[in-house]
Parts: sequence; structure tokens; C-alpha cells
Amino acid sequence: MNQIIGHSQNIHMLKKAFFSEKLSHAYLFSGIEGIGKRTVAKAFTKLCLCESIESGKPCNRCMSCIQVEKETHPDFFVIRSTGSTIKIEQIHQLQKNIQRTPYRGKRKIVIIENCDVMTNEAANALLKTLEEPLGWTVFILTSSRLHAVKPTIKSRCQNLWFRRLSYKQVIEGIKRYAKKDIPSEYQHVVACMSYGSLGRALKLLNKDFEKMRIESLKFLKHIKENLSITKLIMYSSELAAKKETVSDKIEIFWMWFRDLMIWKLTGNEGLIVNIDVLEDVKACANEYTIESLNAITKNAVDVLKGLESKGNVRLLLDAFFLNLYEVLSFDERG
Ligand SMILES: [Zn+2]
Repeated sequence: MNQIIGHSQNIHMLKKAFFSEKLSHAYLFSGIEGIGKRTVAKAFTKLCLCESIESGKPCNRCMSCIQVEKETHPDFFVIRSTGSTIKIEQIHQLQKNIQRTPYRGKRKIVIIENCDVMTNEAANALLKTLEEPLGWTVFILTSSRLHAVKPTIKSRCQNLWFRRLSYKQVIEGIKRYAKKDIPSEYQHVVACMSYGSLGRALKLLNKDFEKMRIESLKFLKHIKENLSITKLIMYSSELAAKKETVSDKIEIFWMWFRDLMIWKLTGNEGLIVNIDVLEDVKACANEYTIESLNAITKNAVDVLKGLESKGNVRLLLDAFFLNLYEVLSFDERG
């Protein structure tokens, strides 16, 4: 647990509860996606089930630690969505599994990942178990959408909020977990675009994102040349066809225009995200007014919000590009 990046308060609290034998029967870990909730939950499970705890830490070598890691421990259960929801059958099966006393140690641990995707029936079934806890079972529920967790579930758990990691912590994580050496400028880009989620930062390190970013930046650098509404709408339709990458792409757009605006306003290189194309940022910033950059970044944020709440992708993108065209052609006329 000591190697986990960030979340030291929560870890401290959990360890204290464990060693003083004052564990709650249910915890709810919440915080943005990819921040480390699952990692902490698993490390905590190891601590609870380890057969030879060493200086306050699970040993990571005993049969229990290994089986927790592989999710094969007979006293450890992980419930995650099948399809897009967690179903009542899964909760019923779980209830059977935890009825009996633990096989090996004193406890059974249950992790319910993204508990907000439980169907109503599943949540109600779980609620009964949370209301009448078995002494040996500890539940750890996780969620990155706290607003979507039933208040009745929330109120029966001890709530632990996981904060975003700092820039420094994300960089530390990239250095530790990236599969290859990442140039420091690119580490910076990815850390800035991770918004404090190491999971997201590591996802962004894949080749596809890198390629998409290079192509997008090239497109953005020349966007004002031969500006045409047809070109932008065609681009919008190409984007909409690749639904899984739409948000990443719009975020690249957003960061680009945000950089131009920040550069124009402050002239401070330290505040630029796309530091590896700094010269392009400086050159392109001159082609825009603050007002237009402000309008474009606001528009990008609106689209991202729309995408997050599962709006119609094609309509959102078309609106974004139409607006972009308006602003850019106004700049040209201006
Ligand atoms: Zn162990």
C-alpha cells in the first residue's frame, strides 16, 4: 500500500481502522475514473487477508496475497458489470457466497466496481445485505459517478472521497508505469490532459492517441487556410464515425485553442500544455483574437459536457464545427 501514488489520507484511515479492528462493514470509494480507487481497494483487500503482514503492509508473497491479485481467493469477491449493468442475479449469487463463515481467515471481502451501474433490483437486493451486515464481510463499493449512487446505498457506507492526483504525482506515475521511456515534453502533455487521473494518463500514452494528436495538431495549425464549411462538416462526420475517440479528439482541440489563448494573455511558456509544439502555438496565437479563442474554448467545453451526458454525437460535433466556422470566418473578415 505504501507504493500507491497519492490517497495517503484514505490509506492511513483504512490501515488505522484495520489495525484497531474497527473496520466498517461497507466503504464507498468515489472519485474520477482512473484515479486509483480499485488499486487501493485491492491493496486493502490484501491487507485484510494477508497471512504474514510485514511492518504494517501485506507481504505480496503469501498464497492469500497472490490469490487476491489473481481474484481467485475463496474469501474475496469482485462484482463488476456484465454488459452495461450489474444485475440482480450477480447480487443473489454473492449473497449465497458470503453467507458462510470465511474459509481461511477472519474476513470475506467484496469489491463492487462502479456500483452506480447496478440495476434498481440489484441495488435494492444489496441494500438488504448492507442493512443486516454479516460480521465477517467487508464491502468496498467504488464509483466515479457518485451522483448516480442511490442515497440509501451511500448512507449505509463509510464514504471515502478520492482526490485528483497532483501534476507531480501523475508524472511520477508515468515514469513508474509507462512501458517505455517517454520524452519529458510528452510526459507533460499527457499529465496535463489527464486531469489528475493516472489511469487516464497511462491510457493516453498509447500509440493511437499519439498519432491522433499529431494529425489533429497538424489540422489545427492549418485550419484557417482554405477554410470552408464543407471541409469542416466532412471532418465532423469523419470524427463522429469513431465514437470511442471523439472526446479525446475534442479535448485535443480544446487544449490547442486554450494554449493559444493562454499564450496571448500571458506569454508564459510554463502554462502551455502542448509544449512540444510551442513554436506553432506562438505563431498561430497571432492569427486569433482573444474573443474568438474564448468563444471556441467555451464551445469545446460545451461539446465535452454534451458527450459526457451521452448526447447525439453527430449533432454535437456539427454544432461545434459550425460554430468554429462562424468564429474563424469572422476573424478572417475582421
Ligand atoms: Zn500476504
